[in-house]
Amino acid sequence: MSHTAVMPLTRRKGASSHKMNTQIDNLLHEHRKFPPSEDFARDAVATAELYAEAKADRLGFWARQARELLDWETPFTRTLDWSNPPFAKWFEDGRLNVAYNCLDRHVEAGNGDRVAFHWEGEQGDSRTVTYAELTAEVKRAANVLSGLGIGEGDRVAIYLPMIPEAVVSMLAVARLGAVHSVIFGGFSADSIRSRVDDASAKLVITADGGWRKGKVSALKPAVDAALQARGDLGPQETVTNVLVVKRGENEIEWTDRDLWWHDEMAKAEPEHEAQAFGAENPLFILYTSGTTGKPKGILHTSGGYLTQCAFTHKIVFDLKPESDVYWCTADVGWVTGHSYVVYGPLANGATQVLYEGTPDTPHPGRWWEIIEKYKVTTFYTAPTAIRSFMKLGRKIPKQFDLSSVRLLGSVGEPINPEAWMWYRKVVGGKAAPIVDTWWQTETGAIMISALPGITETKPGSAQVPIPGISIDVVDDDGQHVGTGNGGLLVVTEPWPSMLRGIWGDPERFKETYWEKFGDKYFAGDGARLDHEGDIWLLGRVDDVMNVSGHRLSTAEIESALVAHPFTAEAAVVGAHDETTGQAVVAFVIIKESMLEESAAVDDIAAVLRAHVGEQIGPIARPRDVFVVNELPKTRSGKIMRRLLRDVAEGREVGDTTTLADTTVMQIITGQVTAK
Ligand code: ATP
Ligand code: MG
Repeated sequence: MSHTAVMPLTRRKGASSHKMNTQIDNLLHEHRKFPPSEDFARDAVATAELYAEAKADRLGFWARQARELLDWETPFTRTLDWSNPPFAKWFEDGRLNVAYNCLDRHVEAGNGDRVAFHWEGEQGDSRTVTYAELTAEVKRAANVLSGLGIGEGDRVAIYLPMIPEAVVSMLAVARLGAVHSVIFGGFSADSIRSRVDDASAKLVITADGGWRKGKVSALKPAVDAALQARGDLGPQETVTNVLVVKRGENEIEWTDRDLWWHDEMAKAEPEHEAQAFGAENPLFILYTSGTTGKPKGILHTSGGYLTQCAFTHKIVFDLKPESDVYWCTADVGWVTGHSYVVYGPLANGATQVLYEGTPDTPHPGRWWEIIEKYKVTTFYTAPTAIRSFMKLGRKIPKQFDLSSVRLLGSVGEPINPEAWMWYRKVVGGKAAPIVDTWWQTETGAIMISALPGITETKPGSAQVPIPGISIDVVDDDGQHVGTGNGGLLVVTEPWPSMLRGIWGDPERFKETYWEKFGDKYFAGDGARLDHEGDIWLLGRVDDVMNVSGHRLSTAEIESALVAHPFTAEAAVVGAHDETTGQAVVAFVIIKESMLEESAAVDDIAAVLRAHVGEQIGPIARPRDVFVVNELPKTRSGKIMRRLLRDVAEGREVGDTTTLADTTVMQIITGQVTAK
């Protein structure tokens, strides 16, 4: 294994778009702490020794995880090759089949009857899929795909609702050593076109439609439109077939290249022997959510990715595969769906819930009803969902039996301390530990998180790097900021599930993540170290506000706003201001239960402004507070602050292609200009 200290990357002068004073003022004070219960600690899967082991020999530690958690057809002899940074190779001479690791080996070990998925359709139809059944389906699907000419390295686009076939498709592609690119079912024809082109996909797997918000939402027409939009310009069409799952039963048009999934599956051979591929064989391309700009096509490979997914899923979620029922609510179109619905949990032989629809259909207690029905023990969701439940009030979850829940997870955005407390109390029965997991599409798997049973948790803080991961918070020159200070979050050593690049664009890969510090991965997020060294995420560096020379974090001011009894959700941005350089502009949504009370208040903006002043200081007081009904969010539920900044500064609203609901910006603009 080679490990060089020299980085061949040159730092172009002035090339960094993030040149700035990075010291982010530390404003919010949160002192609540929750030590693990004795019971939880006694049976915890994670141990404190993992930290010491990884510290003593980081690469040896990861090599052990890779060997113990995965089955290798050919064992690797080298752990990391970092001779050509930032292009890492992990376990490179090892060979494995990713799908075999998620399926066949569990069946061979006698666990074929274990439930892999309790699938629940939005309308209440359901299906139980065991590991034996899932394995059998993936084998057939692999035969279907290879019959359509798909083999090692070919790209397959997947545009499906949250149905078992989505997982089957991903694993069938992986089984053949091909590369999937999952596109959120809900993205437009344009998004499909650009992703299919970017990857030169040969095949698209879609469905007639899926259930969303109580009705069938058509999918195939978007694929048709994307493929028709080809015209005479541009490269030649690469897609030779479209495989269509029947789900919505909606009427669709049919062309020569279209094939029904069920017809092809019925004709396919049932047996398929998984062949091994190199550990660095590409597994998937996935686009980031586009919160800060045009989405990037992130490339992940096999052995290192699967190792870190399996390891983190096991220790962060305290997995007891025989007894746990784990539910991660993420769509498979998001990286969380890849790593914590498909690869991590299936590699570990977990039993999961998979739900097709929206949280509030056909009634606002739908998720809680599902937890009750399947006795979910481990629940992993996003702060945006928690805040939207807070908005509706605790009465709804209180109608269901949530006593099976023993562990809660959060991902996607900073979780405001008030949302954290609500989650623990209302969903976790005042006892379940919460793991706030920080990671990105680029990191592939969890990087920062408390370990349940080990870490004393703090509402609002992601806390500590997981064992084997090296994280720092640095200033603009790459120097450690020290406890009590804010700065930029970086990863200082390569990690197994790190992105291997941006598909087809090595230069953008270097520029975006490595140019700033040369030898450290720059995540693009601001963070602060508290007096105990715990990490608090402060929001995107692009979103940090500079008010009269003070650098303020979006996360802290939003958390202060959410701590007011009126507020369900808040987003803040910095808008140009004549006197202060930038001014804080807040957009808030009022809780349903507080609508009457807040309407009786004369000047709600003044009340919230004063509240922020009290909570964190006068400098953070918003200049404007707009009460709105909605916030612009991506399909994965993240707030798109850059669009709100456009509104606050009176500009035309920028690229909205990854918004969940593109009409929301018109509504907000209308509400703001009406003031
Ligand atoms: P783009 O890179 O295109 O702007 P994106 O960054 O939103 O999109 P993702 O990779 O889905 O796309 O999101 C990763 C980001 O989500 C992180 O960089 C961070 O800002 C935020 N994030 C994820 N988990 C957490 C967490 N637990 N706490 C705070 N922030 C988080
Ligand atoms: Mg990002």
